[in-house]
Amino acid sequence: MLQSADPKAGYVAHAKEIRDTIDRVLASGFYILGPEVEAFENDYALYQGGGYTIGMANGTEALEIALRGLGIKAGDRVATVANTVTATVSAIEQAGARPVFVDIDPGTMTMSPEALAEALSRDTGIKAVVPVHLYGQPADMAAINTHAAKAGAWVIEDCAQAHGASLQGVKVGNFGDAAAFSFYPTKNLGALGDGGAVYTRSPGLASNLRQYRQYGWRERYVAESPGRNSRLDEIQAAILRVKLKHLDNENKRRSELAACYLSRLAGTALRLPVLVEGARHVFHQFVIRTENRDGLRRALLDQGISCGVL
Ligand SMILES: *Cc1c(COP(=O)(O)O)cnc(C)c1O
Repeated sequence: MLQSADPKAGYVAHAKEIRDTIDRVLASGFYILGPEVEAFENDYALYQGGGYTIGMANGTEALEIALRGLGIKAGDRVATVANTVTATVSAIEQAGARPVFVDIDPGTMTMSPEALAEALSRDTGIKAVVPVHLYGQPADMAAINTHAAKAGAWVIEDCAQAHGASLQGVKVGNFGDAAAFSFYPTKNLGALGDGGAVYTRSPGLASNLRQYRQYGWRERYVAESPGRNSRLDEIQAAILRVKLKHLDNENKRRSELAACYLSRLAGTALRLPVLVEGARHVFHQFVIRTENRDGLRRALLDQGISCGVL
């Protein structure tokens, strides 16, 4: 069967390292929130540029918990883009809020700052904005932050498809009040099971979320605030530490392949991804637009070239 993603390839490429790592965790006796999770959180925070990483069960919960941590509650409205994956909307709804869909910039396919400004002026109940760095393309964070700040709305970046993407050399996830990452197996940084994380530069928010993800415990058995279970496990964290070492190289390879597609497809009737000055796109997906979607899809599949409809 043709697939548009091949998570097994990421395992096979580093199989020995990953299997050794899993053996080490199995022998350690720690399986949930232990030394591997802590080490991965530190590694990822360093990779991001110095904030705090809090491992979670998956990306959807990371986004939901970030929203809750910033005080989003039932009845609040949260602006996001209409073309995002279902998970972004599930997270907003699970936090008790209602999504407000904002249009995108037709070139980058990320949130249009002008459309956001209009939504914020129309609806003063919007308490948070969730731009999505969709397909690996960074959204225009400077303009989005300006509009959100004017309206007093929090900004939570959905970075689930954009590990390693950056603006002016600063990694996405550093522009908002918090950011959510997913480590679903097909993502640019993928585990071999579910995983996610919140990244934030706020030490206060980080420590609240650390409590919240485990029953509200300040320390073992001492619950100080409401909470639940959204933990990352040791095996996944250990695998992620291995794969993080290869992320930059793999993103570089994605960019090389994208550059090849971009040059060979230039001049065709296809609408291609755009590269923005100062922005690093990490090509989680190479998404093209065409008038004849189903015809093109059939022709590609007939030739054994996998593709999907988004
Ligand atoms: C994958 C994804 C999520 C959700 O992550 P899970 O780990 O599958 O829960 C959220 N937002 C975007 C943009 C995604 O691509």
